Amino acid sequence: MTEVTGLRTVEMMRLICDCHTHTDLSHGRNTASEMIRAAYDKGLGGIWITEHGPAHMSVRKHFYKSRRDAYLALRDDIEREKSLYPGMDIRFGTEANVTGLDGETDAAGLEDVFEFINVGYHMMALMKDLSSEMSLQARVIGYKKLGMKFLEEKFSRTLTEVMLRVLDNYDINMITHPTRYYPMDMGAIAAKCAERGTLLEINSAKKLLNAEQIRDIIKENDTVRFAVGSDAHRKEDVGEVSAAFSIIEECGLTPERLANIAF
Ligand SMILES: [Zn+2]
Ligand SMILES: [Zn+2]
Repeated sequence: MTEVTGLRTVEMMRLICDCHTHTDLSHGRNTASEMIRAAYDKGLGGIWITEHGPAHMSVRKHFYKSRRDAYLALRDDIEREKSLYPGMDIRFGTEANVTGLDGETDAAGLEDVFEFINVGYHMMALMKDLSSEMSLQARVIGYKKLGMKFLEEKFSRTLTEVMLRVLDNYDINMITHPTRYYPMDMGAIAAKCAERGTLLEINSAKKLLNAEQIRDIIKENDTVRFAVGSDAHRKEDVGEVSAAFSIIEECGLTPERLANIAF
């Protein structure tokens, strides 16, 4: 593990590109145009719009038209913005949901719409069939809401196995907020991420991964890389990653381990 040096302070860190943001297509408050403008005004080199996948409840308001059409319209908006900010790294991706125990996600069938796919477990996402639903969502409710701690080990094993399948099934850019709601074997996940070139997010809004988790990961794994995301759902939060900077400082992550931070 690399030690924190006195020079590597939060003040010296700079976010190059915010790689995790949402719009009003889901439960975000602002349009893609407003989010991109905010990134520009804050001097960021780029912003990646990573809209929730169609299984996320917040996207359900678009039921009246095909979801593909809703995402294509957003993609068109973002393409227009790209021409307004030629120097910026602006991309359109999705924060897909895991929808099946077989490692399927709701990006299935939409791969051509997005420039890249991030994936994360969400409580507000519907699984594709009842057996997946029972195995994942019901256990979350039992484990989290009803305090059924005895479920944790089995639950964690299932979630880990399913995520490993997702990483094999798709070319995943980044796992978002790992371990939010859900325990996972991060050693196994990190090893697979290193092999597949998938990034692990340090989500500033959710403070996950935290410093302790990252320390554990990099003790065992010297190649897996991380990226910082704001998970902004409104323009004011674009580029707001101070909590992630503190986590990086605390765990002593070095620049070569970070995809979108300079210091
Ligand atoms: Zn998320
Ligand atoms: Zn998100």
